[in-house]
Amino acid sequence: MATAGTSEALRASVLVLNRLYVAVHVVGVRRAFGLLLGELAEVIHDEEGAFANYTFDAWREWSEIRADAKSPHDDWIRAVNFEIQVPRVLRLLRYDRMPRRAVRLSRHAILARDGNRCQYCGRRFPDAQLSLDHVIPRSLGGMSTWENMVCACLKCNVRKGGRTPREARMKLIGKPFRPKRSPLMLMKLHNPKYQSWRIWIEGPHRMDAQDDANVSLASSALDDESLRSA
Ligand SMILES: [Zn+2]
Repeated sequence: MATAGTSEALRASVLVLNRLYVAVHVVGVRRAFGLLLGELAEVIHDEEGAFANYTFDAWREWSEIRADAKSPHDDWIRAVNFEIQVPRVLRLLRYDRMPRRAVRLSRHAILARDGNRCQYCGRRFPDAQLSLDHVIPRSLGGMSTWENMVCACLKCNVRKGGRTPREARMKLIGKPFRPKRSPLMLMKLHNPKYQSWRIWIEGPHRMDAQDDANVSLASSALDDESLRSA
């Protein structure tokens, strides 16, 4: 039943915002539709800079209208008798806790932080060809922390062995760091499919903040003028 397009669409990711529009999770498409059908979430859709909210039924109707004018970066799922676009962003209707402050350390997150680039030779590799390297080896007291773990290709990992970079005469291409945002979310921003995540992850365009500042500066200047002439 599922077409090739549908199975690819099912592998897409959906950004989940809490009730207060703060990005809290990334979920798969099945989970996203489960949340929508269970009326636990709504679709937030970017319509040329303005955001519209849709229930599942409204989103399905909207998808029907749009089905003839699909954009190449959109994913669609064909069900038995209708077609529906995969939403990129959902908002939970009953959950307003703030996201966990610290980004959880995992193999997946380290690979994402390092952009799948071996931190010794600087080349990119698929997940399966990368291993995690303790910069200061565990045998020498190195800890499993963001600051002491990097991804390394198998060749570099073997070459380094149980030594420090200095002992192995290998140099890191960058200093490992603890990311402020989930690297998994940030990595998706390189993909044109997920451009609509940007505003939720990076916040509104800086221009807006500056405009506000200019407005308040202008109004305080006015106040001073009026005070002086009073
Ligand atoms: Zn390497």
